[in-house]
Amino acid sequence: MKSNFFIQNEMNMQARALAFLAVLAMSSYSSPAQAPPPAAGAAAPREQIEGFKEHLIAGSKWYQHDPDRPQPPIVTPGAAFSQAAPPPSDAELLFDGKDLSKWQTMSGQPAPWKVQDGYVEVTGRNDIRTKGTWADFQLHVEFLEPNPPGNLHGQSRGNSGIMINNMYEVQVLDSYNDKTYADGQAGGIYGQMPPLVNASRPPGEWQTYDIIWESPRWNAQKELVQKACITVLHNGVVIQHRTELIGSTDGIGGGVAWRGVSKYTPHEPPVFVALQTHNANPVRFRNIWIRDLHVAERQ
Ligand code: MG
Repeated sequence: MKSNFFIQNEMNMQARALAFLAVLAMSSYSSPAQAPPPAAGAAAPREQIEGFKEHLIAGSKWYQHDPDRPQPPIVTPGAAFSQAAPPPSDAELLFDGKDLSKWQTMSGQPAPWKVQDGYVEVTGRNDIRTKGTWADFQLHVEFLEPNPPGNLHGQSRGNSGIMINNMYEVQVLDSYNDKTYADGQAGGIYGQMPPLVNASRPPGEWQTYDIIWESPRWNAQKELVQKACITVLHNGVVIQHRTELIGSTDGIGGGVAWRGVSKYTPHEPPVFVALQTHNANPVRFRNIWIRDLHVAERQ
């Protein structure tokens, strides 16, 4: 027979459990960060987060691709911001919706992606890159995630990327109502820094990235004297604020294998911009323009 002490203790535990469940129910119901429900036909959100815990990121308490790194808060972006913005007068229009004459494959062949109806869609296994290079720039890119996303989640869901010099990637992904490791979601500096917030629009809606990039610099002795620095606005919301990169993104062309430890490899400051094919996920792009900031010339 249980003593009064144990019976009372059990009752307290049950009460605490009920209270905890009640708080949980209320908090999940009333959270202001909840995104609108997915559109009809969209796949249900998945709570399980893929990821790895192999290498601590330099200067961080989190592992590269850490599934436990907190998911950035969801922010619903405002009106269109820079969407469909005509390029400023000193910008170079890189894609006007008609042709890819400013682009090529990594090996210098004509860019093979499909252009139609004012956009270009990732096609096949070739990344494409600009023919031009810039050391420090403001880049405007618009992208659209496949809709419906099908039963795809995480890194398989509308994956592409803005790959600067094929070394540093700003992730392009459908992170609307879908989770992946935080440093690999939309607007993440892949494998290094999650976005400050998740400002994703639903798949099937055009989104914008406005990227301000400063190339890394090395001295004559090939010593790194300035890390790469990036600021990113996603749909008008600041998601990277003067983020210093710790080196090349893992898993693209910068000499760091996927899930490998990021490091810098010296290169000239002028860099090209590449768009990534990730298993030919049919992500679309339009209205791409760039402004050279001429930073070095003013120093
Ligand atoms: Mg990518």
